[in-house]
Amino acid sequence: MTVHVEVTADRRFGTNSYLVEDEETHDAVVIDSNLEPDLVIEVARERGANVKAILLTHTDLDHIAGLHELREALGPVPVAVHGAERDVVSAGKPLRREFGPIATKVDNVVALVEGEPFHAGSLAFEVLHTPGHSPGGVSLRIDGYVFTGDALFAGSIGRSDFANSDSRKLIEGIRKKLLALPDDTIVYSGHGPATTIGRERKTNPFLT
Ligand SMILES: [Zn+2]
Repeated sequence: MTVHVEVTADRRFGTNSYLVEDEETHDAVVIDSNLEPDLVIEVARERGANVKAILLTHTDLDHIAGLHELREALGPVPVAVHGAERDVVSAGKPLRREFGPIATKVDNVVALVEGEPFHAGSLAFEVLHTPGHSPGGVSLRIDGYVFTGDALFAGSIGRSDFANSDSRKLIEGIRKKLLALPDDTIVYSGHGPATTIGRERKTNPFLT
């Protein structure tokens, strides 16, 4: 299997929305749904990708804002999310005490479970629970790539100053589950540029 990754970012929050595609079968998923879903929809159309699911690293507004538009364009594909944040997507329950409810009610929500591979067409993702920025934060690993959401960034880590954040869990998850991956694993974060596990282990000021 050859996995191909395309990155799109919205202008307001610089939140990344990824298209991850099996180059042989064209089966694909979208990881996170930023404020400009038209960008990833366009990329999927250009490539002839068959989007089978939308995977969420977590449910802060900037990672789910485009969900309805995305599913209107790509069909009512399942939205996969960790159980701790399921109600945000299925019932519009606010993720943060600090912010109001989110007008998102998706009828086709499926679970991302740590230790259980998530299959979407010919793609299979390893699910790593990396909470701390939010309770249901996950990182998704496939081939030589890991999508870390707002847990790990190039040179930084996610915010943990919200009421339902936990800085100790955040660091512990990054150390035990992400830094344990091979050095050449390419890291695609929720915001900003790509990096590698090796570079972050050596140079990330929050982890060294
Ligand atoms: Zn974010």
